[in-house]
This record gives sequence, C-alpha cells and structure tokens, in this order.
Amino acid sequence: MIRGIGASDGIAMGKAFMIPTWEWDFPEKMVDVTDLAYEFERLYDGIRSSKDELKLIKQEIHEVVGQEESNIFDAHLAILEDPIFMNEIQGIIERQYKAAEVAVKEVIDKFVGMFDLIDDEYMKERALDIKDVGNRLLKHLLGDMEENVPPTDYPYILVAKELTPSQLAHLDPPKVLGLVTMVGGTHSHVAIMARAMSVPLIIGLEGKLLRPIQNGDFLIIDGQEGTLYINPDEATIERYKARKNNWLEFKESLQELSNVPPITMDNKMISLHANINSFKEIDQVVRNGASGVGLFRTEYLYMDRDSLPSEDEQFEVYKHAAAKLNGLPIVIRTLDIGGDKKLDYMPMAKEDNPFLGYRAIRISLGRKDLFKTQLKAILRASVFGYVRIMYPMITTLNEVKEANAVLEEAKQELSDLGYDYDSNIEVGITIEVPAAALIADVLASEVNFLSIGTNDLVQYVLAVDRMNENIAHMYDPFHPAIIRLLKHIIDAGKRVGVPVGVCGELAGDIRALPIWLGLGFEELSISIQTLLHVKHRLLSSNYANCKKLVESILVCKTSQEIHNLLNDADQVF
Ligand code: PEP
Ligand code: MG
Repeated sequence: MIRGIGASDGIAMGKAFMIPTWEWDFPEKMVDVTDLAYEFERLYDGIRSSKDELKLIKQEIHEVVGQEESNIFDAHLAILEDPIFMNEIQGIIERQYKAAEVAVKEVIDKFVGMFDLIDDEYMKERALDIKDVGNRLLKHLLGDMEENVPPTDYPYILVAKELTPSQLAHLDPPKVLGLVTMVGGTHSHVAIMARAMSVPLIIGLEGKLLRPIQNGDFLIIDGQEGTLYINPDEATIERYKARKNNWLEFKESLQELSNVPPITMDNKMISLHANINSFKEIDQVVRNGASGVGLFRTEYLYMDRDSLPSEDEQFEVYKHAAAKLNGLPIVIRTLDIGGDKKLDYMPMAKEDNPFLGYRAIRISLGRKDLFKTQLKAILRASVFGYVRIMYPMITTLNEVKEANAVLEEAKQELSDLGYDYDSNIEVGITIEVPAAALIADVLASEVNFLSIGTNDLVQYVLAVDRMNENIAHMYDPFHPAIIRLLKHIIDAGKRVGVPVGVCGELAGDIRALPIWLGLGFEELSISIQTLLHVKHRLLSSNYANCKKLVESILVCKTSQEIHNLLNDADQVF
C-alpha cells in the first residue's frame, strides 16, 4: 500500500493507463543495428515537428502578447539547431543503440544537470529552456502527451506525473475510473474537476513508488484515505469491493434528501447552490435539489475544442442551462483562464508565477473582443431564465468599472441588432484576491452580489500555492487570518446591503459549515457531489449554537484551536 493525498473521494479499481512525460523513466529499449536509420528518421521527424510548433507559437505570442515575449522561442529553436546538443543525441543512438527518446532524455538530463550546478540565475533559466525544449521533442517522439489517446476498449485508472484541466476535459468520463498523479494540490482545478466528475483522485505520490506503474497494472485507489494498491492480493480486492458498495449505498441514501428544504433545526434557511464546470452537469443540479447554480465555470466550454467558441455556440449552452433551471438562478462566471487553466489553441507566454500573472478578468480586459463575445452570449441567454454574470479575480474598482463598461457596450450592440436581453441583468464579482476582500464594501458599490472564491483566497492570503503538494499541509483554510477575513467580507456586504455568498470548495467542506452559519452566510455554492452531504449536516445543525461557536472561533490564535473547537462542537450539532 502506498499513501498519497486523497483529492477526490471514492474507490476505484481497474487497469492503469499511463500518460508518459519527460520525467518518467523510459524502458532502456535497444535498437537493432538494421533499424538505426529508422531511429534517426524518427529523431529528425520529431525535431521538424517541434520546430514547426515553436514557430507557430512564436508567431501567435507575437500577435497576442508582443515581440519581447515571443523572442524566448528563438532560444528554444536555437537549442534544436545546436550542433553540440544534436551530436550528443546522435552519438548515443549510433554508438549505444539506444532509442531516440532515451538518447534525448539522457542529453537533456546531462545539460540540465550541468547548468543547474552553476549558481547563476541566467544559467538556471537556460536549464529550464532546455527542459522545455526536451519536453516538446519527447512529446513528438512518444506521441503527443496532451492528446495521448487512452484505451477505448476498457475503462482505466489514469496515471500521470501531472494532469492539466484541458487534458482532463478531453477524456471520456465514463471510461475514467480514477486518477493518480504524482504532483498537484487538493485545490487545483484538476482536483475540483475530478470531484465534480465523481472520479476518485490521489495526488502526491512523487518519490513514493518503488517502481513506476506500468500500463495494465491492476490498481485500487481510495480517494478518501489517499491510498494506492498496485496489483493487490484477492483479499484486498474483496475488502475494497465491500467498502465501495458501502460508499455507494451511503451516496444513494443521501439522494432522499434532494427535495428536503435546506433548513437548520432552528429554522434558518440556507440556499445551497451548485458549482458546475459543464452544461452536462445541469441535470444533476436539478436532481440534487440545488437552489440554483452559484458558479458556472465557463472556461471548460473553451477547453474541449480546437478554437474559441463563437457567440452563437456559447449562447446555445447558456440558454439551455438557464432554461433547464426553470427560473432558478444561474451565475455564469466569465472566462477564468490562466493559472493552471490553459487553452491549447491560445498560447500564452510562460510565466514564473502564473497564479499571480495574466489570469481571469485580466485576460478578459486585455482581450475585450473575447470578453464582449462572451457577455453578448450570456445577455442573449438571459431571456430564457434567471441569469446572473460574475467576473473572476477582481482586484481593483477600476477593473469592475471597466468590465461593466464592456457589458454596456455589449448591451448596446445587441440592442442595435434587435436582440432581447435582460437589461437589468445582475452582476457580481468573486472575492478571491486579498485586496478585493479588504475593499469589499467599495467594490460592492458597483455590483449586485459578491461571491467568495476561497480556493484562491486561501492560497493568496497564506502564500501557499494551491497546486503544490509539498506544502499541501500548509493550505489551511482554518487559519485564523482566513476566518477573520471572511468575517470582514460578510460584514462589509451586510453594511452596504449587498449579498455575499461563497463558491470556493470550502463552502462544501462539512467541517466549515458551522463557521458559515455562525458568520451569517446564507448562500453557499458547492460542487454537486458534496451538496447533499452538506445538506445532511445542515439539517441537524443549530444556527443559534453556530453563532455562539463562531464568537469563540474568532478569538482563536491558531487553526489547531479552531479545529479543537469544531471537533468539540461536533456533538452539539
Ligand atoms: C475559487 O478560487 O474559490 C473559485 C471558485 O474559483 P476557481 O476554483 O475556479 O479558481
Ligand atoms: Mg478562483
């Protein structure tokens, strides 16, 4: 048994399918002397494709971002043309009969190692360039990692060094029994997607495997415990079959709560909305009795494809989602790419700190053409239901004003074309940047609602990358600073009369429910998979007791003290 970190609940059993990446060990396959020419041909093909790709990216970056950023790709092209680099690779194939990918990896390892030893920022950056070029070349030699096609004839547990949201978006959900990644964080978008898809996920296995997992190995993963078994014995398989059945029965029993109103024991009603990543989840929203959709992450609509979705395509999706909800509200969040969410067809400059970089509303305001197209699609859909708009990652008042100005232009253009839309459409923002939290009252003056994105807020307040498994234990939403900041935001909203909800994963964390109730939050937006768990807990909660509990929590000095209070209170609720 190997212990990692459970990032999405549930138990999966099945055969492994491995996505190769540069950092995997390749089998030391020898090339027959008669196949040497073919091996060189593979190498040259790989180099040609890598160069073509780099030239394309360079051109796109130049057009979208600028000349300076596009220059870095010249350095990458130069590496692929460097005679020393190429001679080394050719030499290994020719003299040691090693496969092209093995030779490339050995040479990259050697150069990266050499450059890394030199204590100089510039040299370290060159090492990164070589790694990057190496990855690209290996991708072409091994088959495209991003598009590496999983088996179609059997369901599988996907194993990867790391996964990107766009890779996950390309998979066929019924075929994916479970996910295992070596790196990643429990609040990464891949983890959020896995939970939304009800697919168990274990992360953080880096350095813990005694041997690499092979395609076809039989795996058991327990997403709650964070445990992995490779080719386990019969007794373990039987034990896990029983656990899996119990888990499924518990989930089934929760289904009975879907039509029960979300009210505490002392009659406080809390709206439980759903977070969705795709239109496909809308039926489940209704089936689970959610009060509406509090967060529709529209970026996934942009991912599972090769080009930007047009206004009409987006309109169809938003319209059907709004109509299916039959008058219940749906908050459509405008495009939130950047950070760990990339679009394959829209290359962006490499950033050292992507979560502090060109992301979310910053991209929308930089690419107003894309932004306006999306706003028009949302506006047109607004006549088919109760549609609300939300801007992600707001930091300043000017951003809100600028976004609202684009919204007004979108309205005007639609009016000119004779389209109907809700001219009073409600607009909100996510509060996920500490600066926005601190001026929540100011920002509220320009919008109709606020929604706290705890996933990002926690990482920014604590300076703990939500993607980094090495510091996952420091990603602590129960840090007193977070609780105080949440109180600051809800109090600000109450003072200026603007409702404040929560849409981060913490909204669906059973342990946090007494805090939400005690601080006076009345609207939580939760992934569909946990919505009924939260309702189960809410039905046996006492609002008045939570208020008292939060008074004690607010004077705690450490998260340990907060956890202790929550644990002690467990019997009360
Ligand atoms: C958040 O940051 O809490 C949030 C809801 O947005 P996302 O997880 O999509 O970044
Ligand atoms: Mg966010």
